[in-house]
Amino acid sequence: MAVYFMPEVNLSYAIYNGDISHISEIPAKGGILNDCLCPNCGEVVIPKRGAILSHHFSHKPSSNCGASTASETALHMYAKKIIANMKSVVLPDLRVSGDVLFSSRDAYVASSAIEHRHDSGFISDAVLHTDIGEIIVECVVTHAPCPETVEKMNDSRCACVVVDMSGWPRSLTPSEIHIRLLSGYGWKWITHPNIETAKRKREIEKAITDSLTIQVTSSTSTRFIATVDGRNVNCIMPGDVSVDDAMRSLCCRFGAERISNVTRA
Ligand SMILES: [Zn+2]
Repeated sequence: MAVYFMPEVNLSYAIYNGDISHISEIPAKGGILNDCLCPNCGEVVIPKRGAILSHHFSHKPSSNCGASTASETALHMYAKKIIANMKSVVLPDLRVSGDVLFSSRDAYVASSAIEHRHDSGFISDAVLHTDIGEIIVECVVTHAPCPETVEKMNDSRCACVVVDMSGWPRSLTPSEIHIRLLSGYGWKWITHPNIETAKRKREIEKAITDSLTIQVTSSTSTRFIATVDGRNVNCIMPGDVSVDDAMRSLCCRFGAERISNVTRA
């Protein structure tokens, strides 16, 4: 029985006619006239379609570009190509401190763009305009988004996801990449506007619990209904408190802009 040596990484993708393409997408006689370029170094790569090794592209012997690095760049580019054309995606759970704010769900993509420059100044791999709003997408093959980008994403108060492809085999075919991306494999939220809202809601609940604790030590108390961030909450304050004092106290605690109404219960 013959034993064949299989190299660890073969370059399966090249730029063909200006588009990132898998070797299976290159016409049988195409790519031999110097029209396939390495996605990493831009040099000409030659399609190899032998009977033994899996079909792949090969740099010229003089090249210093590694197939491993070129394959990482290729995976990143091909993922962006698929994302730019996806019509739906399975979004991951959105969690804060273990609580699920919303469960994994399908989002329908009306339009998309790659290399998107956000108003906040950062450039993401893609933006998806979906039925649940704009979603910024960053694909990660080897490097996590830099801290400055993550900070800008947080400041933008947009919904941002990272697609973690770091553990994906570099030999994946287009259809395998396609299936992974559409099923939400590796998708994780970096930030989402609802996270801040949930944190504020939790702050309010904690502050109200604290105020309820205070009244236990007082022999008299006054009950109010206050509207905090548009939500009616019961408040019990120690002693005989006027509505004006209750309003002042709640404004100090939550900020005047968040209190819209205080009445005796
Ligand atoms: Zn190269």
